[in-house]
Formats: sequence, C-alpha cells, structure tokens
Amino acid sequence: MAHRVTLIPGDGTGPELTEATRRVLEATGVGFEWDVRHAGVDVMKEAGTPLPQDTLDSVKRNKVALKGPITTPIGTGFRSVNVALRHELGLYACLRPCKTYAGVRSRYDNVDDVLVLPNLYGDIVSDLTAGLVGGLGVAPGGNIGPDSAVFEATHGSAPKYKGQNKVNPTAMILSGKLMLDHLGERHAAQRLEDAVADVIREGTSVTYDMKPSRDDPTAVGTSEYADAIIQKLEG
Ligand code: NAD
Repeated sequence: MAHRVTLIPGDGTGPELTEATRRVLEATGVGFEWDVRHAGVDVMKEAGTPLPQDTLDSVKRNKVALKGPITTPIGTGFRSVNVALRHELGLYACLRPCKTYAGVRSRYDNVDDVLVLPNLYGDIVSDLTAGLVGGLGVAPGGNIGPDSAVFEATHGSAPKYKGQNKVNPTAMILSGKLMLDHLGERHAAQRLEDAVADVIREGTSVTYDMKPSRDDPTAVGTSEYADAIIQKLEG
C-alpha cells in the first residue's frame, strides 16, 4: 500500500532539493502518493499567506510531510513559516541525527549521535552540530508531534543558489530516510542510507561542497548526485 505523504517543495533551492529526494525515495521501491502543497514566499502573492490553510490541512490529514526549506524575509513582519508550521501542528520535538559518513571532510570522525530537543533549542544546537559532521549540506532533521511529523533538512533555502542545480541534497535525502523509518519502512531506510554512504565514500559523483576543493570541476549537480544514489539502489 502506498504511503500518502504531503510534499512541500518550499522556495529558494527547496524545489530542486525535494525533487531529487522524491526521485531517490521512489527508487527504494516504497510506494508513495504525494500530496503536493505549497508554502513560502513564492505562494505569498497568490494565496495571500505564506502558509495556506490547505497545506496545513493536508499535513493534518496525512500526518506525515516532507518539506523543503522556506525563506523568512527579514524586516517585513513575515512570520517564519517553519516556526508557524511547528506551532500549528504541535511538533514539539526536534530530531536531529548527527553522524559522520566516510568521505565527508569534517573535523571529527566517527560521530554518531541523535539529538532530540525541544524544537527551538534543537534548531539552534543542530546548526552547531552540523559543523561537526561536515556542514549543513549533510544534516537532516525531523519535527515530531503527537499526531504528525514533518521531515526537513537543518539548512535553509540557500536562495543565492536557487535554480542552479548545484547544492547538496544529502540533508534532504537523509531527512527522507528518517521519514522512511517513521513510516515503518526500516529496510528501505537502511538501503537508502547505505546507498548515500557508498556514493559519498566513492567521492566521484558528489556536489561541490563534498569535493576537496569547492571549485573542483568534477563536482556534479543536485540532480546527478541523486542519479548516482538511484543507480546504487537499483543496481
Ligand atoms: P542557509 O542554510 O540557507 O544557507 C547558509 C549557507 O550554507 C549557504 O550560503 C550555503 O553556502 C550553505 N548551504 C546551505 N544548504 C546547503 C546545501 N544543501 N548544500 C550546500 N551548501 C548549503 O542559511 P541562511 O542563509 O541563514 O538562510 C536562508 C533562508 O533560509 C533564510 O530566509 C532563513 O530564514 C531560511 N531558513 C529556513 C529554514 C527551514 O526551512 N527550516 C532553516 C534555516 C533557515
């Protein structure tokens, strides 16, 4: 039976990251019925609000969402959609695995910890712990409440890279792995994590931030990195 999941692409680099993640999740063989709903600066004009009611209702109904990052413009009185979503859904717990993968350049090796903190503290602390395991590009997360759960990367919308097929989807993809665990799809979750770990360890088809030098011409794009993971899953 397919899992019905609310998919919120977000804004900035969110849509390209969630698209890569959706393709990888489908390659695990688990069935999904995506209920695509929008939130963020791009729907503000049309919907009159950055968090339309139908988006909120969809998460309440499906009880599980995969969400891309959403921009909070500064100095406009615009309330953070991310914080509003957590409040409205009572997502009090912030689940943030903090784990090093061989091949990611980081100051420490063999870090493997899971932080579960009240949401606001978790958000702040996990930005710091992302630094321990190789940066924001690889730090996933989940916001969990009594009725529903929203899975998203620790990082923000990195708007300067919007539409460039450049940024690292690992954090979003590993958030998808957490979602698979949450849905009881533990075998698929493990296969997905192994595929990600293999691609990172090989170091060939990885994004610019996982190369020894950030201007390495052999770095691949967001979409091609997802393709490499899909190849592992299907191979
Ligand atoms: P950010 O995480 O978007 O970007 C900071 C820097 O980290 C980027 O310039 C980039 O160099 C790097 N980075 C981030 N994600 C990356 C990725 N996937 N791959 C490679 N490099 C990556 O933080 P910011 O610039 O402070 O915030 C931008 C917007 O995102 C703001 O409006 C902020 O409010 C919002 N935000 C949203 C969320 C969320 O949706 N949960 C979380 C944090 C920030």
